[in-house]
Amino acid sequence: MIFHEQQLLDKELDPYRVLKKKVGLVPTMGALHEGHLALVKKSVAENEITVVSIFVNPTQFDNSKDLQKYPRTLDEDSKLLRSLNAKILIYAPQPDDLYGNKVVSKRYSFGGLEKQMEGKFRSGHFDGVGTVLNLLFRAIRPDQAYFGEKDFQQLQIVRKLVEIEKLPINIVGCPIYREPHGLAMSSRNKRLSQVEFDKAGFIFETLQWVRSNFSDKSIPELQKIVQQKFKENNYLELEYFEIANIKNLIPAKRKRKRNKYRAFIAAFAGEVRLIDNMALN
Ligand code: AMP
Repeated sequence: MIFHEQQLLDKELDPYRVLKKKVGLVPTMGALHEGHLALVKKSVAENEITVVSIFVNPTQFDNSKDLQKYPRTLDEDSKLLRSLNAKILIYAPQPDDLYGNKVVSKRYSFGGLEKQMEGKFRSGHFDGVGTVLNLLFRAIRPDQAYFGEKDFQQLQIVRKLVEIEKLPINIVGCPIYREPHGLAMSSRNKRLSQVEFDKAGFIFETLQWVRSNFSDKSIPELQKIVQQKFKENNYLELEYFEIANIKNLIPAKRKRKRNKYRAFIAAFAGEVRLIDNMALN
């Protein structure tokens, strides 16, 4: 069932809340793929009812062309969700149903998490993400909400957001779903040409190479080699490569045994910006 208005969705959810049956939420921007569906299936398995929100959130885009070109496929998305044959409600609002008449971001400080990587390169992005998720959380009041490690920085920020906003929601992280050649599934992949799609497997290959060499090489060495690998690649332009401590996301200069690290890449294939990451230890 598709709801465009909070009020009607609320009526549908109320009986579940009254009977203390678990409500799961999977926030998405639509153009659903297997990666999204994995989150939805996990929520269906762990909750009595699942809400999938489909909303291309204008306040988290720093680039109006990217916002305009973001794929919107609500009919196909709802067919896909229906095919799961489960208790799933779709919430696909217009901006004013969530934001009221002012579609603007609240300013957040996520303890520095927002200053690294995506935060550096997409100004205001995490204020937009925090704002829309806070609105969705308050509208839907889920017991659990599901997020992909594909957007690992976002996942850590959402954990911080529920702390800041004092929301009693369990945030569940889910592994990255990939295409057969390793490219992380993404709605943006729909905008790649066949050649760009094929060549974009290089991002995953590079992350795997970093993981295999993480124990033998220093971080500056790995940095240098990855930069060089991208320079030699004619199809992908590297925006950033970082190895960061998973807790604070601060780029690491040297390894410490007790810390856990991930490698993060953002790169352009033509006009399309792709991100990916991988656990290293
Ligand atoms: P999006 O529609 O891109 O905002 O993504 C909605 C949710 O799906 C986010 O929590 C993403 O991290 C997650 N997601 C997107 N792509 C993948 C993927 N390839 N594997 C796992 N989760 C994903």
